Order: sequence, then C-alpha cells, then structure tokens
Amino acid sequence: MEKISVVVSCYNEQESLPLFYKEMERVRKEDFKDIDFEYIFVNDGSKDKTLEEIKNLRKIDDKVRYISFSRNFGKEAAMFAGLEYSTGDYVTVMDADLQDPPSLLKQMYDTIKNEGYDCVATRRVTRKGEPPIRSFFAKMFYKLINKMSDVEMVDGARDYRLMTRQMVDAVINLKEYNRFSKGLFGFVGFNTKWIEYENVERVAGETKWSFWKLFKYALEGITAFSTTPLIIASIVGILFCIIAFILIVVIIIRTLIFGDPTSGWPSLVCIIFLVSGVQLFCIGIIGQYLSKTYLEVKNRPIYIVKETEKDKK
Ligand code: UDP
Ligand code: MG
Repeated sequence: MEKISVVVSCYNEQESLPLFYKEMERVRKEDFKDIDFEYIFVNDGSKDKTLEEIKNLRKIDDKVRYISFSRNFGKEAAMFAGLEYSTGDYVTVMDADLQDPPSLLKQMYDTIKNEGYDCVATRRVTRKGEPPIRSFFAKMFYKLINKMSDVEMVDGARDYRLMTRQMVDAVINLKEYNRFSKGLFGFVGFNTKWIEYENVERVAGETKWSFWKLFKYALEGITAFSTTPLIIASIVGILFCIIAFILIVVIIIRTLIFGDPTSGWPSLVCIIFLVSGVQLFCIGIIGQYLSKTYLEVKNRPIYIVKETEKDKK
C-alpha cells in the first residue's frame, strides 16, 4: 500500500493544531480510503502547549509521529527535519494554520499519479487579508529575485506541495545551513505542476512573520540564490573609476588653461561622502555573502532534536 507523509511545522499552534488534525482526517477518510498516512508534526520550540497537543493526538492515533526541537530553529529547519523523518512514498508539506487547504490534496495526488509529474505545488493568486504594503514588497521581491537568479521562483508560491520520494531525497541531500526552500525546490528541478487557489486566512492564532523577519528572509533568498549583487558592486566600482578618470582629465586641462583658483571645498565634501557611501554599501554586500559562508563552514546542525515519539516520556 502506498503511503503519504504529511509534514507540518508548528510554532505556537496550540489553537490551530486540533482543527488542522480534524480537517486533515476528514479529507483522508473521504479521499484517501486505501492509502496509508503518517503525520509528522515538527514542534519548532513552541512556547505554548503545542507539544502537549501533539502528544494528545499521538495518544489517540499512532499515525501521528513528532519531532520536538530543543529551541526555535525556524520554519525552514522544521520542514527539513520533517522531510528527513518522513518515510512515505509521497510527502506533503503543510502549515498548521489550515492556510494550505487539505482538500486540494486529492487533486495533487491524482495529478502525480495520472499525469506523470514529480511534484504538484501550489500558489495563491490573491493575497486577500494581507496588509497591502506587505503584498507590495512581496511582489517587488519576486520581480527582483527572478531577474537575479537562474532558479525560477514563482510569485505567491506556498511551501504547500506534494512530492515524490525521489524529489524529497534530492531536497534532503541539500544540506546547506541557510535554507531558502522556495529556491531549493526550484533548484532540484523535476516536473512541477502549479495549481492555484485563493488565499485562505489562518483558522486560529496569529502569523509568526513580522515585516522585519520577512525582510531578512528575502535577503536570505537573494544571497542564497544569486551573486548578482556582487556583480553590481563591481560594476558600480568600475563606473566610479571611469567617472573619476574623466574628472581628473577635465581638471588638469582646466587648470592648464585657466590657472588654479582654490575653490570647490563643498563639492569635494559631497564627493567624499558619496564615494565612501558607495564603498560601504559594496563592502556590506560582500559582508552578506561572507557571513553566509561563515555560517556554512561552521557546519552546525540545521536543527537539534529534544524528543520524538520514540522517546517514551
Ligand atoms: N512556523 C515554524 N517556525 C517558525 C515560524 C513559523 O514552524 O519559527 C510555522 C507555523 O507554525 C506555521 C507555518 O510555519 O505552521 C507558517 O507560519 P505562519 O502561518 O505564521 O506564516 P504565514 O502563513 O503568515 O506566512
Ligand atoms: Mg499561515
């Protein structure tokens, strides 16, 4: 019998979890009568009763497995851990807040089965219920990253997707510390079909992503999947050299023709400010890449497990 693993990363989701489980079970009983299931709940260092909720589910249902982290490692780490622990022939990644409708799962499964795709991914076509400023920056981000990176990133793409074991193994084999899944899924390739749906608001609890967190995540995506900023820095450098050279020639000629009245202190200060600003900016870009490299070479684990369902506690 085939098996589907449902990987769910949970951070402070005590209200949503029971609702998620109920809805997912309803879909499973309706649409997947003769397919095995396993749930892998990854407790990402929640500070509320999420772990207790998961353990309660485990008590009534041994399809439920879980991993609990020693602290909050972030959603990327949680997804990675879930994929590593999964044993199914197909694996799906979902949020605990029901923003990824389980009802789509049947359609996704059928597409893989009947149309020969390796992966079915979802994207939301609306961003209803989201602050407009956030939607605006998200749009900008996708425009930018798709110009700069060879890996295609789809605007509005969710992490919600169903993958074959082969693709999951490929993703697990990417052991990088700075994980940006939207890029990693694109990087491994395979035939992916995109299905679209309207944005759904979370059932309970609130979003874990502040604007600042998203901004840092966006920078992560850019440094992880593009070196274009480094090229831009070099080009700006060359441009400034050329301008400086032309200016030198102009000034020498002017001095030879008109003599040398000492003036131009304000313009000099402006130029110093401008050039040192550009220099700092470029060093900052290099620093971004260096810091990522630094974190990678330290080779720290992506997550640390405190307990799983196998530890009887
Ligand atoms: N999440 C996580 N670790 C974190 C932050 C979030 O595992 O540090 C999980 C969270 O529990 C949820 C999913 O990631 O299942 C998506 O988070 P959220 O719904 O807050 O994000 P949004 O849908 O608003 O982008
Ligand atoms: Mg959500």
